[in-house]
Amino acid sequence: MTMQDCLFCKIVRKEIPAAVVFEDETVVAFLDIKPVNPGHVLVVPRAHAADYASTDDASLRDIAVVAKCVGQAVMRSLQAPGFNIGVNNGRAAGQLVDHMHLHVMPRFEGDGYELWHGKPYAEGEMQEVAEKLKTALG
Ligand code: AMP
Ligand code: ZN
Repeated sequence: MTMQDCLFCKIVRKEIPAAVVFEDETVVAFLDIKPVNPGHVLVVPRAHAADYASTDDASLRDIAVVAKCVGQAVMRSLQAPGFNIGVNNGRAAGQLVDHMHLHVMPRFEGDGYELWHGKPYAEGEMQEVAEKLKTALG
């Protein structure tokens, strides 16, 4: 897929309509068409990157700061007592659109949206996994 065909690049370039709530030189934020709750916003870098893991650090900082402002705005203007920030990286994680985006999801008590449920580690597995990650991150 080229950037020419990318859905969110088209929104960034204003080639297809979106309910844009904020934009600056590097970031565009617009309403998700299928929200968890009304006011669910997608924050995207103008520069195309396929997913979170391949996004340059400057763009990541920019979208994180805008996501904070969007979160404050949904609490203030939509009276949401909380919000979740989410990223789906890769198909296995539920990523459908291959242009990096942060979800900012307004949350209300008892709105029925479920977070992940944790599962326990097997004996010794936790240390093993921690070692692999430490090595990869070192
Ligand atoms: P993800 O599963 O993290 O890739 O999320 C993609 C999101 O994009 C979904 O929540 C969709 O509802 C949303 N979406 C798809 N097409 C559009 C569009 N044209 N305008 C706004 N949001 C969209
Ligand atoms: Zn794109």
